[in-house]
Amino acid sequence: MNPYLRSVFRFGENILHKSYSLCGSPHTFQTRQGPLLIIAPHPDDETLGCGAAILSAKQANRVVKVIVISDGAKTNLPQKNGRQSIAQRRVQEVTTACTIMGLSAKDVIILGYPDKQTHQNKDKIKADLRRLILEINPVEICSPYLLDRHVDHVATAQIVHALCVQGIISCPVYEYPMWFSLRDIVYRLTHPFTLRQTKRVATQNFLFTKKRAFLAHQTQCVGTHEVDHLHTSIWARHFGPYELFFLNDPQLANDGDLQ
Ligand SMILES: [Zn+2]
Repeated sequence: MNPYLRSVFRFGENILHKSYSLCGSPHTFQTRQGPLLIIAPHPDDETLGCGAAILSAKQANRVVKVIVISDGAKTNLPQKNGRQSIAQRRVQEVTTACTIMGLSAKDVIILGYPDKQTHQNKDKIKADLRRLILEINPVEICSPYLLDRHVDHVATAQIVHALCVQGIISCPVYEYPMWFSLRDIVYRLTHPFTLRQTKRVATQNFLFTKKRAFLAHQTQCVGTHEVDHLHTSIWARHFGPYELFFLNDPQLANDGDLQ
């Protein structure tokens, strides 16, 4: 994408994130007992989208499990070292990041499906998630946003919605937006009452550790290796005062051809 267009996109996404945060009601992951499950399409989504949620739940002594769907091998790195080697590096990075956030290696479950092929592997991933959710028995789930721009995020959200419809998931699901899409803007403008389902989690007490955890994802830091640089870098909205979540909306899954 043209760099000018990219910066316009990022500016727009930052404004949307701020606007939704202002509309949202405060939420904490410290009130419920029982496991919190984070579902991440790629290594680093757990930290960028849910770092403060994870850290606040750990502060309340909750069990937190992270499931990473893909191997993250189709990243911006030169592919000359081969997919396997990049995938191994990204697994190490996500394990280190989660360790920094207070999880142990056994709390991080890597499914290892090929990056950008979630849709093609939907049935297998759905079976894996079904098994793991029944095993973990979470009381809250953080999952990608159905109206995200990234195909893997959308496909993962669709799988989670299907598991809700089938009754495998009966606990609250909080969807975290990573990349905003035009569909999101259109949907919110035409369904403004859904903004009441927006939740914001204050990052204040957890921001420094969240930044340290993200820096463990060295392949994703794009030349930024200092905690102080993250609030001014392209990742700025992920290190602002709030993490943003939309309470899973069954109506959204039933709208048009989203399912
Ligand atoms: Zn992602």
